Amino acid sequence: MKNKDRYPDNWDEIALRVKIKANWTCSKCGLKCLSTDDKRTDKSQRTKLTLTVHHSDYDPSNNHQSNLIPLCSACHLYMHRGRRQNISPGQLKLDLGV
Ligand SMILES: [Zn+2]
Ligand SMILES: [Zn+2]
Repeated sequence: MKNKDRYPDNWDEIALRVKIKANWTCSKCGLKCLSTDDKRTDKSQRTKLTLTVHHSDYDPSNNHQSNLIPLCSACHLYMHRGRRQNISPGQLKLDLGV
């Protein structure tokens, strides 16, 4: 299954818009993440404080506003861990919008 193909060409743009709208805050735990131009923290911190965009219905081709949820990487991983189907690290990285 090639999940990558289901993402729109301007996914980065779409994801960025969601993150800015959320003020770089995770919608699940309220963690304030780093904006793209925040270069202060070291690499390990950055991974933890990276805001990602999750598809509420797990369908990357559905990019309606209501389907896009800003989540920190921990919450995002948690959402996918509860799923039966496994996703490859590459897929998750893409889905994380990193
Ligand atoms: Zn979170
Ligand atoms: Zn997701």
